Amino acid sequence: MPSSLTVLTIAGFDPSSGAGVTADLMVFAAHGLFGTSCITALTIQSTLGVLSSHPVSAENVRATLDCLHADLPPAGIKIGMLDTADNVAALADYLKAIRLHHSRVPVVLDPVLRASSGRELLGGEGLGVLRERLLPLVDWITPNLVELGVLSSQPVAIHSDLPAASRALQRFAGNEHLGVFATGGHLDPPDDFLLAPDGDEHWLPGERVETTSTHGTGCALSSAFLSRLVLGDTPLQAAVVAKRYVTEALRTAVPRGHGSGPLNLLWPLGTK
Ligand code: PLP
Repeated sequence: MPSSLTVLTIAGFDPSSGAGVTADLMVFAAHGLFGTSCITALTIQSTLGVLSSHPVSAENVRATLDCLHADLPPAGIKIGMLDTADNVAALADYLKAIRLHHSRVPVVLDPVLRASSGRELLGGEGLGVLRERLLPLVDWITPNLVELGVLSSQPVAIHSDLPAASRALQRFAGNEHLGVFATGGHLDPPDDFLLAPDGDEHWLPGERVETTSTHGTGCALSSAFLSRLVLGDTPLQAAVVAKRYVTEALRTAVPRGHGSGPLNLLWPLGTK
Protein backbone atom coordinates (compact mmCIF):
# COMPACT_ATOMS: atom_id res chain seq x y z
CA MET A 1 0.00 0.00 0.00
CA PRO A 2 1.38 3.47 -0.83
CA SER A 3 2.33 5.59 2.17
CA SER A 4 0.16 8.59 3.07
CA LEU A 5 3.30 10.59 3.83
CA THR A 6 4.27 13.57 1.70
CA VAL A 7 7.90 14.59 1.23
CA LEU A 8 9.16 17.82 -0.31
CA THR A 9 12.14 18.49 -2.55
CA ILE A 10 13.46 22.03 -2.95
CA ALA A 11 15.86 21.98 -5.90
CA GLY A 12 16.55 22.96 -9.48
CA PHE A 13 14.83 21.66 -12.61
CA ASP A 14 16.99 19.55 -14.90
CA PRO A 15 15.07 18.97 -18.16
CA SER A 16 17.07 15.79 -18.84
CA SER A 17 15.63 14.24 -15.64
CA GLY A 18 19.02 13.04 -14.39
CA ALA A 19 19.22 15.39 -11.38
CA GLY A 20 17.08 17.96 -9.58
CA VAL A 21 13.39 17.84 -8.72
CA THR A 22 12.28 15.33 -11.37
CA ALA A 23 14.93 12.86 -10.25
CA ASP A 24 14.07 13.45 -6.58
CA LEU A 25 10.38 12.79 -7.29
CA MET A 26 11.32 9.48 -8.91
CA VAL A 27 13.35 8.53 -5.83
CA PHE A 28 10.40 9.36 -3.56
CA ALA A 29 8.05 7.30 -5.78
CA ALA A 30 10.48 4.38 -5.70
CA HIS A 31 10.20 4.48 -1.90
CA GLY A 32 6.39 4.60 -1.96
CA LEU A 33 6.28 8.26 -0.90
CA PHE A 34 4.26 11.09 -2.44
CA GLY A 35 6.55 13.93 -3.48
CA THR A 36 5.93 17.65 -3.86
CA SER A 37 8.49 20.11 -5.21
CA CYS A 38 9.61 23.71 -5.10
CA ILE A 39 11.75 24.64 -8.11
CA THR A 40 14.54 27.11 -7.34
CA ALA A 41 16.00 27.42 -10.84
CA LEU A 42 15.46 26.26 -14.40
CA THR A 43 18.59 24.80 -15.91
CA ILE A 44 19.12 24.15 -19.59
CA GLN A 45 21.08 20.95 -19.86
CA SER A 46 21.31 17.46 -21.30
CA THR A 47 23.50 14.49 -20.43
CA LEU A 48 26.33 16.52 -22.01
CA GLY A 49 26.30 19.23 -19.33
CA VAL A 50 24.65 22.43 -18.09
CA LEU A 51 24.36 25.22 -20.69
CA SER A 52 22.76 27.81 -18.42
CA SER A 53 20.83 28.33 -15.22
CA HIS A 54 17.91 30.72 -14.61
CA PRO A 55 16.87 31.30 -11.00
CA VAL A 56 13.26 31.37 -9.88
CA SER A 57 12.70 34.56 -7.86
CA ALA A 58 12.94 34.25 -4.08
CA GLU A 59 9.42 35.69 -3.96
CA ASN A 60 8.10 32.74 -5.96
CA VAL A 61 10.11 30.26 -3.89
CA ARG A 62 8.59 31.72 -0.71
CA ALA A 63 5.09 31.65 -2.18
CA THR A 64 5.48 28.02 -3.32
CA LEU A 65 6.75 26.87 0.08
CA ASP A 66 3.97 28.67 1.96
CA CYS A 67 1.26 27.48 -0.44
CA LEU A 68 2.39 23.84 -0.23
CA HIS A 69 2.85 23.98 3.51
CA ALA A 70 -0.69 25.20 4.15
CA ASP A 71 -2.18 22.23 2.30
CA LEU A 72 0.42 19.43 2.05
CA PRO A 73 2.80 19.81 5.02
CA PRO A 74 5.83 17.58 4.41
CA ALA A 75 6.95 14.72 6.65
CA GLY A 76 10.50 15.33 5.42
CA ILE A 77 12.39 17.85 3.30
CA LYS A 78 15.27 17.37 0.87
CA ILE A 79 17.18 20.45 -0.29
CA GLY A 80 19.33 20.48 -3.44
CA MET A 81 20.44 23.22 -5.84
CA LEU A 82 19.39 26.69 -4.61
CA ASP A 83 21.21 28.90 -7.17
CA THR A 84 21.00 32.29 -5.44
CA ALA A 85 21.67 33.84 -2.04
CA ASP A 86 18.09 35.18 -2.03
CA ASN A 87 16.72 31.66 -2.48
CA VAL A 88 18.90 30.35 0.35
CA ALA A 89 17.55 33.14 2.58
CA ALA A 90 13.92 32.41 1.57
CA LEU A 91 14.40 28.76 2.46
CA ALA A 92 16.06 29.62 5.78
CA ASP A 93 13.06 31.81 6.68
CA TYR A 94 10.68 28.93 5.83
CA LEU A 95 12.64 26.36 7.85
CA LYS A 96 12.90 28.72 10.80
CA ALA A 97 9.15 29.22 10.78
CA ILE A 98 8.29 25.51 10.52
CA ARG A 99 10.86 24.56 13.17
CA LEU A 100 8.68 26.50 15.63
CA HIS A 101 5.78 24.09 14.97
CA HIS A 102 7.16 20.85 13.51
CA SER A 103 10.63 20.59 14.98
CA ARG A 104 11.04 16.89 14.21
CA VAL A 105 10.50 16.94 10.45
CA PRO A 106 13.83 15.62 9.07
CA VAL A 107 15.62 18.01 6.74
CA VAL A 108 18.46 16.75 4.53
CA LEU A 109 20.66 19.26 2.68
CA ASP A 110 22.59 18.20 -0.41
CA PRO A 111 24.91 21.24 -0.71
CA VAL A 112 24.99 21.46 -4.51
CA LEU A 113 27.73 23.96 -5.36
CA ARG A 114 28.73 22.89 -8.88
CA ALA A 115 27.51 20.42 -11.52
CA SER A 116 29.86 17.48 -12.01
CA SER A 117 30.18 18.75 -15.61
CA GLY A 118 31.67 21.95 -14.16
CA ARG A 119 29.13 24.78 -14.03
CA GLU A 120 28.70 26.68 -10.75
CA LEU A 121 25.22 26.14 -9.26
CA LEU A 122 25.61 28.29 -6.13
CA GLY A 123 27.87 31.36 -6.02
CA GLY A 124 30.03 32.72 -3.22
CA GLU A 125 27.32 34.93 -1.77
CA GLY A 126 24.87 32.00 -1.68
CA LEU A 127 27.47 29.84 0.00
CA GLY A 128 27.91 32.48 2.70
CA VAL A 129 24.16 32.55 3.45
CA LEU A 130 24.04 28.74 3.37
CA ARG A 131 26.79 28.58 6.00
CA GLU A 132 25.33 31.26 8.23
CA ARG A 133 21.60 30.66 7.96
CA LEU A 134 20.88 27.20 6.54
CA LEU A 135 23.39 24.93 8.28
CA PRO A 136 22.01 25.73 11.77
CA LEU A 137 18.52 24.67 10.61
CA VAL A 138 19.08 21.32 8.87
CA ASP A 139 19.47 17.85 10.42
CA TRP A 140 21.69 16.24 7.83
CA ILE A 141 24.11 17.31 5.16
CA THR A 142 25.28 15.01 2.32
CA PRO A 143 28.41 16.61 0.82
CA ASN A 144 30.63 14.96 -1.78
CA LEU A 145 34.40 15.27 -1.33
CA VAL A 146 34.67 18.68 -2.99
CA GLU A 147 31.71 20.11 -1.08
CA LEU A 148 33.06 18.70 2.19
CA GLY A 149 36.42 20.33 1.47
CA VAL A 150 34.82 23.73 0.78
CA LEU A 151 32.45 23.63 3.78
CA SER A 152 35.05 22.37 6.27
CA SER A 153 37.90 24.50 4.85
CA GLN A 154 40.08 21.39 4.93
CA PRO A 155 41.65 19.37 2.12
CA VAL A 156 39.61 16.21 1.45
CA ALA A 157 41.22 13.75 -0.94
CA ILE A 158 41.65 10.38 0.73
CA HIS A 159 39.68 8.19 3.13
CA SER A 160 41.48 9.36 6.26
CA ASP A 161 40.54 13.03 5.53
CA LEU A 162 36.79 12.43 5.90
CA PRO A 163 36.32 12.00 9.69
CA ALA A 164 38.23 15.18 10.64
CA ALA A 165 36.61 17.25 7.87
CA SER A 166 33.12 16.01 8.85
CA ARG A 167 33.72 16.92 12.48
CA ALA A 168 35.06 20.34 11.45
CA LEU A 169 31.93 20.91 9.35
CA GLN A 170 29.72 19.92 12.29
CA ARG A 171 31.58 22.46 14.47
CA PHE A 172 31.53 25.28 11.90
CA ALA A 173 27.81 24.77 11.30
CA GLY A 174 26.97 26.12 14.74
CA ASN A 175 24.67 23.10 14.96
CA GLU A 176 25.82 20.40 17.36
CA HIS A 177 22.97 18.18 16.11
CA LEU A 178 24.05 18.27 12.47
CA GLY A 179 24.68 14.80 11.03
CA VAL A 180 27.12 14.46 8.14
CA PHE A 181 26.70 11.77 5.47
CA ALA A 182 29.79 12.34 3.32
CA THR A 183 29.72 10.60 -0.05
CA GLY A 184 32.98 9.15 -1.30
CA GLY A 185 31.99 8.29 -4.87
CA HIS A 186 35.41 9.47 -6.04
CA LEU A 187 37.36 7.46 -3.48
CA ASP A 188 38.80 4.06 -4.31
CA PRO A 189 36.97 2.06 -3.07
CA PRO A 190 33.98 4.48 -3.09
CA ASP A 191 33.16 4.29 0.62
CA ASP A 192 30.85 6.77 2.37
CA PHE A 193 31.28 8.15 5.88
CA LEU A 194 28.55 8.85 8.41
CA LEU A 195 29.03 11.15 11.39
CA ALA A 196 25.87 10.88 13.48
CA PRO A 197 24.56 13.81 15.54
CA ASP A 198 25.61 11.94 18.71
CA GLY A 199 29.21 11.75 17.43
CA ASP A 200 29.12 8.07 16.38
CA GLU A 201 31.17 7.39 13.25
CA HIS A 202 30.56 4.70 10.63
CA TRP A 203 32.17 3.77 7.32
CA LEU A 204 29.82 2.41 4.64
CA PRO A 205 31.74 0.22 2.23
CA GLY A 206 31.04 0.88 -1.46
CA GLU A 207 31.76 -0.96 -4.68
CA ARG A 208 32.68 0.69 -7.97
CA VAL A 209 30.05 0.23 -10.70
CA GLU A 210 31.47 0.69 -14.21
CA THR A 211 28.88 2.92 -15.94
CA THR A 212 28.56 6.29 -17.67
CA SER A 213 25.08 6.73 -16.09
CA THR A 214 26.17 8.80 -13.10
CA HIS A 215 24.38 12.14 -13.50
CA GLY A 216 22.47 13.00 -10.33
CA THR A 217 24.06 10.34 -8.11
CA GLY A 218 24.32 12.84 -5.23
CA CYS A 219 20.67 13.95 -5.65
CA ALA A 220 19.56 10.30 -5.59
CA LEU A 221 21.53 9.41 -2.49
CA SER A 222 20.27 12.34 -0.42
CA SER A 223 16.64 11.82 -1.52
CA ALA A 224 16.83 8.10 -0.77
CA PHE A 225 18.37 8.84 2.63
CA LEU A 226 15.58 11.33 3.44
CA SER A 227 12.97 8.78 2.27
CA ARG A 228 14.34 6.08 4.55
CA LEU A 229 14.48 8.48 7.53
CA VAL A 230 10.84 9.44 6.93
CA LEU A 231 9.92 5.74 6.75
CA GLY A 232 11.37 5.28 10.24
CA ASP A 233 14.89 3.90 9.75
CA THR A 234 17.67 4.83 12.15
CA PRO A 235 20.25 7.11 10.46
CA LEU A 236 22.70 4.21 10.01
CA GLN A 237 20.03 1.93 8.51
CA ALA A 238 18.82 4.78 6.28
CA ALA A 239 22.35 5.42 5.01
CA VAL A 240 23.06 1.73 4.33
CA VAL A 241 19.76 1.18 2.50
CA ALA A 242 20.07 4.46 0.52
CA LYS A 243 23.58 3.50 -0.60
CA ARG A 244 22.35 0.06 -1.69
CA TYR A 245 19.47 1.69 -3.60
CA VAL A 246 21.84 4.02 -5.48
CA THR A 247 24.30 1.23 -6.26
CA GLU A 248 21.46 -0.78 -7.82
CA ALA A 249 20.23 2.31 -9.73
CA LEU A 250 23.75 2.68 -11.18
CA ARG A 251 24.09 -1.02 -11.93
CA THR A 252 20.76 -1.33 -13.77
CA ALA A 253 20.89 2.00 -15.66
CA VAL A 254 20.41 1.83 -19.42
CA PRO A 255 22.78 4.17 -21.33
CA ARG A 256 20.92 7.30 -22.47
CA GLY A 257 22.28 10.37 -24.29
CA HIS A 258 25.86 11.05 -25.34
CA GLY A 259 27.27 12.14 -22.00
CA SER A 260 26.75 11.33 -18.34
CA GLY A 261 23.32 9.65 -18.34
CA PRO A 262 20.61 9.24 -15.67
CA LEU A 263 20.43 6.40 -13.14
CA ASN A 264 17.61 3.85 -13.14
CA LEU A 265 15.89 5.54 -10.19
CA LEU A 266 12.63 3.59 -10.51
CA TRP A 267 14.27 0.14 -10.38
CA PRO A 268 12.22 -0.95 -7.32
CA LEU A 269 9.11 -0.56 -9.55
CA GLY A 270 10.61 -2.85 -12.19
CA THR A 271 11.38 -0.14 -14.78
CA LYS A 272 14.35 -0.28 -17.15
N1 PLP B 1 20.69 19.62 -9.26
C1 PLP B 1 20.45 20.16 -10.47
C2 PLP B 1 19.16 20.83 -10.74
C3 PLP B 1 21.41 20.07 -11.44
O1 PLP B 1 21.15 20.62 -12.62
C4 PLP B 1 22.63 19.40 -11.15
C5 PLP B 1 23.66 19.29 -12.18
O2 PLP B 1 23.50 19.60 -13.30
C6 PLP B 1 22.85 18.85 -9.93
C7 PLP B 1 21.86 18.98 -9.01
C8 PLP B 1 24.09 18.11 -9.58
O3 PLP B 1 24.15 16.89 -10.28
P1 PLP B 1 25.52 16.29 -10.72
O4 PLP B 1 26.37 16.26 -9.49
O5 PLP B 1 25.26 14.93 -11.22
O6 PLP B 1 26.10 17.17 -11.76
